[in-house]
Amino acid sequence: MTNDDYQFETLALRTGIHRSQFQEHSEAMYLTSSFVFDSAAQAADRFAEREPGYIYSRFTNPTVGAMQERLGALEGAEACLGMASGMSAILACAMSLLKSGDHVVASHSIFGSTVQLFGGIMKRFGVETTFVSPTDVQAWERAVTPTTRLFFLETPSNPLTEVSDIAALAQVAHRAGALLAVDNCFCTPAVQKPLQLGADIVIHSATKYLDGQGRVLGGAVLGSREFIMGSVYPFLRTAGPTLSAFNAWVILKGLETLRIRMDAHASNALALAKWLEEQPGIERVYYPGLPSHPQHELAMRQQRNGGGIVSFDVRGGQEAAWRIVDGTRMLSITANLGDTKSTITHPASTTHGRIGPQARAAAGIGDGLLRIAVGLESIDDIKADLARGMRGA
Ligand SMILES: *Cc1c(COP(=O)(O)O)cnc(C)c1O
Repeated sequence: MTNDDYQFETLALRTGIHRSQFQEHSEAMYLTSSFVFDSAAQAADRFAEREPGYIYSRFTNPTVGAMQERLGALEGAEACLGMASGMSAILACAMSLLKSGDHVVASHSIFGSTVQLFGGIMKRFGVETTFVSPTDVQAWERAVTPTTRLFFLETPSNPLTEVSDIAALAQVAHRAGALLAVDNCFCTPAVQKPLQLGADIVIHSATKYLDGQGRVLGGAVLGSREFIMGSVYPFLRTAGPTLSAFNAWVILKGLETLRIRMDAHASNALALAKWLEEQPGIERVYYPGLPSHPQHELAMRQQRNGGGIVSFDVRGGQEAAWRIVDGTRMLSITANLGDTKSTITHPASTTHGRIGPQARAAAGIGDGLLRIAVGLESIDDIKADLARGMRGA
């Protein structure tokens, strides 16, 4: 039986199930580093890939396999490989695709560690990266060189929720002979499917919404069978940035509720964004679901909703912003996102502290900017907590 005609919600529950002889209903967790063979000949066949089957959990594990199947089905990808974290997924993608002398064009509004990876570590190995605006398609076109191999972006961006035109950038990448990779962490496949829009590779930090409950680290790389199994798999097998079976199981179970969680995150986020727009002392609200967002139409075209992240500028700079953070009682003061619990972050002094004031100003990240990863508490309690913080400010 194939699951090809199932809807998203059903795929999230019914893909990747391979019951053991015990016929367990919920997916089993296979916490084992290695697997045994019936004979020396079978061991040889497994190692030579003449016979499919499990060998060693650095590169093959049934629980990790189940998570890969399910996430692959949700993204509409031919193949998926789990990784230890979002960053190891990005590293695996880069190491599988790039060699010394290659060039990357990347959005300048990507995760801080991703900037360090491309701009620092990969640069030491002779890979040059040009950083451009996520919303200026022509800037990507102008940045292309004869050695450009990869376009890399996140949409919506963090923390300003700028939305990139995936279909347009896929065309530019393909004309240049490059692949487009989209870090789909903020949306998840429940909200946006980059491969359907023309992207070639999808990256996930499963640490965020895929687990969705702040428990484990994990990541994934998805794309064509040729790229994933032909290029990424040999890197995984050799270098070992492996997703643990335990973490894979937690993520696998997280995927079951992904659609309803993302819809609930987004409806809370939209309500909060609208409310914030009406509050005195708030200069600007950034949320793709608001008609005032500069790429609202594009966002509504390529996303199911505006997602769960809302940012806003507070009049009075860092002092006023910190007073709001410190005046809240319920919101968690942490830089993590994609949790059931709402979190509040002051990007300029935390996630974007290391890039320096000039780079922050260029990126539009002001000292009064706050980011809320809107959780699943009652929206009334979230608003009341922020109102409490604002009274303090
Ligand atoms: C958190 C994050 C990452 C890194 O993921 P880890 O699991 O923490 O390694 C990458 N991209 C985005 C957009 C993120 O938010």
